[in-house]
Amino acid sequence: SMLLEMRNIRKSFSGVTVLRGVDFSLKAGEIHALVGHNGAGKSTLMKVLGGNYPDYEGEVVLAGEDVRLITPKTALAKGIAIIYQDFSLVPELTVADNIALGREPCGGLPGTIAHGALRKRSEREAQKLGIRLPMDVPVRSLGVGGQQLTEIVRACSQDVRILVMDEPTARLAPAERELLFSTMRRMAAERGVGIVYISHFLEEVCRLSDRVTIMRDGMVVETGVGAGYTVDSLAHLLVGHDLPQHEA
Ligand code: ADP
Ligand code: MG
Ligand code: MG
Repeated sequence: SMLLEMRNIRKSFSGVTVLRGVDFSLKAGEIHALVGHNGAGKSTLMKVLGGNYPDYEGEVVLAGEDVRLITPKTALAKGIAIIYQDFSLVPELTVADNIALGREPCGGLPGTIAHGALRKRSEREAQKLGIRLPMDVPVRSLGVGGQQLTEIVRACSQDVRILVMDEPTARLAPAERELLFSTMRRMAAERGVGIVYISHFLEEVCRLSDRVTIMRDGMVVETGVGAGYTVDSLAHLLVGHDLPQHEA
């Protein structure tokens, strides 16, 4: 059965409807790409899932249970972690402190025993995912790739069942991209995390995804098995033109 089912989701902003009855599902251990041109409604759908739009219409079923996602806290408590396009890190804090954000009510001041324990735990969380990060530098000194990985370690140090990444590779270097992909695969395979992955890189999408959902103009065009798509077929579905038929 499905880990997540979103049914007939609708969302408007001051009278303008941007989600027009969207169905989206996610299995445990699956990497599910969400693609569509700018403005298609991908981020809005994931913000509904993240509890940011309590006035959405439609149903959300999580592991068979009807849920109402009314605050980010509700979503997080249900194991839904979302990494948005704009990160929510505190640039001045160290990597270790950022990983612990929202986890330790009072981690202790740097130099104290409590802080040493926090740092160790953050490092362990990173190691579990096979991610190496310098724990004691301000996170702003890491570059986008390192910040992205810090976000992932933080999300996974909570009890995450669903991880959403909104255009995670947009600003990454190739080596950072590969590290991100292997991390995603491990989380899905070893922990059964369902991963939603929003990307404009169609080659990545074809290579990485178990399933793909294509959105256009606030609606789902189709959901299919990742291996069944090519860059060309996806590109055509994004714009709504049929593939040219080749003459026999
Ligand atoms: P995508 O992530 O696919 O690029 P978005 O979900 O960001 O698309 O946006 C879908 C549509 O909703 C766009 O037309 C966008 O302008 C609109 N929209 C998104 N967020 C808001 C908001 N907070 N207020 C008003 N309109 C919004
Ligand atoms: Mg956009
Ligand atoms: Mg977006």
